[in-house]
Amino acid sequence: MSRTDAVTRILFEAFSVAEVRLFYVLGYGAIAIFCYGVYVQIRKYWRGAALQLEGSLWSRLGDMAAKVLNHRTIDRRDPAAGGAHRLIFYGFVLLFLGTTTITLQYDILEPLFGIQFWQGKFYLWFSLVLDAAGVALIGGLAYMMYRRGWLALPKLDYARPDRLPEDPDFNRPQYRREDWAFLWTLMIIGLTGYLLEAARLVWLQARPDVWDTRWWSPVGALIAEGMSALGLTAHGGGSLRHGLWWFHGLIALVFIALIPFTKVKHIFTAAASLMVRDPLAAQRLARVPESQARPGAAKITDLNWKQLLNLDACTKCGRCHEACPATAVGAPLSPRDVILSLREFANATLESGVLPAAAELDIHGKAPGQVAMETLWSCRTCMACVEICPVAVEHVPIIVQMRRKLVEDGAMDPLLAKTLQTIHKTGNSFGESKRKRGGWSKSLPFPVKDARKEPVDVLWFVGDYASFDPRNQKVTQLFASLLHEAGVDFGILYDGESNAGNDVRRVGEEGLYEVLANANVAALKGATFKTIVTTDPHSYNTIRNEYPDFGGKYPIQHYTSFVKQLFASGSLRVTQPLKYRTTFHDPCHLGRFNKGYEAPREVLKLLGCELVEMGRSRANSFCCGAGGGRIWIPDPVGSEKPAQNRIKEAAAIPGLEVYVVSCPKDLTMFEDALKTTGNEGKFVVKELIELIREAIPERRAAALPA
Ligand code: SF4
Ligand code: SF4
Repeated sequence: MSRTDAVTRILFEAFSVAEVRLFYVLGYGAIAIFCYGVYVQIRKYWRGAALQLEGSLWSRLGDMAAKVLNHRTIDRRDPAAGGAHRLIFYGFVLLFLGTTTITLQYDILEPLFGIQFWQGKFYLWFSLVLDAAGVALIGGLAYMMYRRGWLALPKLDYARPDRLPEDPDFNRPQYRREDWAFLWTLMIIGLTGYLLEAARLVWLQARPDVWDTRWWSPVGALIAEGMSALGLTAHGGGSLRHGLWWFHGLIALVFIALIPFTKVKHIFTAAASLMVRDPLAAQRLARVPESQARPGAAKITDLNWKQLLNLDACTKCGRCHEACPATAVGAPLSPRDVILSLREFANATLESGVLPAAAELDIHGKAPGQVAMETLWSCRTCMACVEICPVAVEHVPIIVQMRRKLVEDGAMDPLLAKTLQTIHKTGNSFGESKRKRGGWSKSLPFPVKDARKEPVDVLWFVGDYASFDPRNQKVTQLFASLLHEAGVDFGILYDGESNAGNDVRRVGEEGLYEVLANANVAALKGATFKTIVTTDPHSYNTIRNEYPDFGGKYPIQHYTSFVKQLFASGSLRVTQPLKYRTTFHDPCHLGRFNKGYEAPREVLKLLGCELVEMGRSRANSFCCGAGGGRIWIPDPVGSEKPAQNRIKEAAAIPGLEVYVVSCPKDLTMFEDALKTTGNEGKFVVKELIELIREAIPERRAAALPA
């Protein structure tokens, strides 16, 4: 037998029987505490409302495994953190598997079946792999420490915008302590693993099978050489190994026992959260279950089990905090803090053996763990938080569910309440008579078909802003003229169209949303058409993703992709290329919600424009501030508005001529912000439709009213 064949893992050598027994007792104790902790967490989730998941378990499992293994969600917009986490993850997993296989051989296969595999070449290769895994783990941890300790990234600052500095939960130093304890515990486990290995080599230096193969554990061997050079004897190495073995082993056992009670549980909860994620979490909100007497979430137990699990998945990475437009302009909202507050609340109330009385489960308010009304109304439901969260926390459905309760109680801004009443009465947010909805078409030199009376190829769902707002009406007329000139057979619903309800739903007025959705679905059912085209991304989202739940499943396109097709088919041709230096603002409901990133950019290119991207573009686009019903709620006087923040970003582009939008609400918000930020005259805000019309001008003068 060669020396290589003889080499094997030294486990309990030189330990007394009592010590071995003690270690097993402690090991089983740690596992028992771990299992109890898992039980407490599952009981907590069980106390949430019921939810039936859609889709197959296997595809969910596969999707989750792919995301966990490729780390794609962690890499996004922070590749350094993704890389470091990848090192920690793979280092930890390999070391964990190494420990597990030792247990497998020594406690199961060898005593029961006499099988030994932890020796010879297998052992040496595994030693090498585990040594490398240790380097990866320690390297990743060191970088994470550097981020927290030296880079002092704002997203990792736990000061919260929804509390005053004098509030007890303003700064939450316990989170910082927890983060550091987590990093240092793993670091100590990793470092003592190497020291232990080195001490073992020094101790057994007289055994050729151990010493001659030491470079299969290069880091341990290097440290062992150092220890020997410093005068550590074999006897000293044995004593050191003995002490380190217990130190390393006990820390590892405490780590295992505390997994379900600390941040470490994200190892499981993050994976579970990814597995149960809803790819349409913000795009398609859930209906109020029939079993629920009052809509919305008033108590922590009104959140469903998946939402409670989401709370535990949060790793406090701060990406949602960084992406949130409300946080950016100093509004009292951080999506991260909503999640952390509710998590604190859930842990305090649902982890105890006996469920507290209903009054103690109220999640609305300003006490620690509760969420304030101002916080909930600050949300634009822009989905930036949901989109960037690496562990699939779904903030928007939680916020809207809590808003439903506020709406039920009438706890909202008076202007918002008035607008909702107006929509209820007239079917639009402008309070105009229904009959005026198609009024913009009267001054066109051609008739616009009534799709309820005659079949059309394209049913154009116009939306409130494009129908009633005077500035947007001009754009609406331009679009009609483009369709007309392109020979598109189109029509509208006239007074059969109501507000699509997208924002009403995100305000939390579910009853009114159902009225609007049912009315529109009924009107659409009465029309004959091949496809819907809409100029309003908000309408686009709800018709595309939410109307199917109300019996209305239709092919629908945003105008940008439809126009792109008209160009491709030759129905529209650019005759006067534009040479503008432009930037494009991705509307939340077209871009993030429905991934409509390419068509508007391609159209801009076709028009001959130069496109300069803003730093925050595509999925990272910055909301104009109008979403989630915020267009109907006045912003606090003196505070910056998201649209102003955005216009300042665009203003930094040298030589910018046109800030291009493709949403009626964006046109309103950004034209206003252009004035209030003092950028009027430097560049202009234009609807993409206006640029298209400008690039195809021949028949415009004859076709449209001045
Ligand atoms: S949806 Fe937008 S505004 Fe609301 S919390 Fe998320 S990022 Fe902030
Ligand atoms: S909710 Fe998601 S994005 Fe936000 S801090 Fe937690 S893990 Fe990060």
